[in-house]
Amino acid sequence: LYRGKSKTVHATDDPDLLWLTFLNDATAFDGAKKAQLDRKGEVNCKINAFIMGKLEAAGVRTHFVRVLSDTEALVRKLAMLPVECVVRNVVAGSMSKRLGIPEGTVLPAPIFEFFYKSDALHDPLINDSHIEVLGWATCDEIARMKALTFRVNDVLKPLFAAAGITLVDYKLEFGNYRGELLLGDELSPDGCRLWDSTTNEKMDKDRFRRDLGNVIEMYIEVAKRLGVPL
Ligand code: ADP
Ligand code: UDP
Repeated sequence: LYRGKSKTVHATDDPDLLWLTFLNDATAFDGAKKAQLDRKGEVNCKINAFIMGKLEAAGVRTHFVRVLSDTEALVRKLAMLPVECVVRNVVAGSMSKRLGIPEGTVLPAPIFEFFYKSDALHDPLINDSHIEVLGWATCDEIARMKALTFRVNDVLKPLFAAAGITLVDYKLEFGNYRGELLLGDELSPDGCRLWDSTTNEKMDKDRFRRDLGNVIEMYIEVAKRLGVPL
C-alpha cells in the first residue's frame, strides 16, 4: 500500500489488518539524509513489539497484534490522524533550537507538543486550535491523544529508567479503529531520544542524525538492557 521512510505497509486478506515491514533504511531531516543500516529493521521490530506489549499490559490500547517474523508485524488498520504527538522530559532537538534552551535541561514536568505530519512542510509545530479548525482531529481526539501520550510516558519513563536509560523525548502517532483511538506506528530508538542515565551518551537516532557512529550497536544495547531477545 505504501513505502514509508522506514517501513512498508502491506494489505492482508483481512481488511482490518495491515502487515508492516521494518526496513534497514535510515533517514533524517525529512528524508534528505539516507543510509542503509544493517539489522535496523530487525532490532526496531523487536524493540517495538516489546514496548507495545508493555503498553498493552498497562492498559494502553495499541494497533499491535503480533510479530510475523524478525522484521514484520501484524497490526490493526487505523485511519491515521495527520499529527505527531511529542512528549519531552528533557530539552533536546527542535525545542532546544526553537527556544534557545540548552540540550539536557531537565524539565520540571513533561511538555507536550503537536506537529503536523508533512515532510514537504518539515513537520511544523502546531497547536490544538490549528488541528481543530483545520479539521485534522476533533476536540475529543485531541484530548484523548494528549491523555494517552502522557500515559505512555508514565509507563515508559520508569521502564527505561530501570534499564539505565533516560527517556528524553518521543513521538507517537494515533489513529481510529472501529470508533476507538489507538496508538499506531512504532516505538523504537528511531522515534525516541534515549540517553545513558549515567553518561548521557546518546543511544537513539541522533547517532545517525549527528554522525556519531555505532548507531546499530547502540540500538542493540538498548534492546539488551530492556531484556528484548534478539
Ligand atoms: P513515514 O510515513 O513517516 O515515512 P514510515 O516509514 O514509518 O513513516 O511508514 C509507516 C506509515 O504507516 C506511516 O505513515 C504511519 O503513519 C503509517 N501507519 C503506522 N501504523 C499504522 C496503522 N496501524 N494503520 C495505518 N497506517 C499506519
Ligand atoms: N520525531 C520523530 N519523527 C519526526 C519528528 C520527531 O520520530 O518526524 C521524534 C524524534 O526522534 C525525537 C522527538 O520526536 O525523539 C522530538 O523531535 P524534535 O521535535 O526534537 O525534532 P528533531 O530535532 O529530532 O527533528
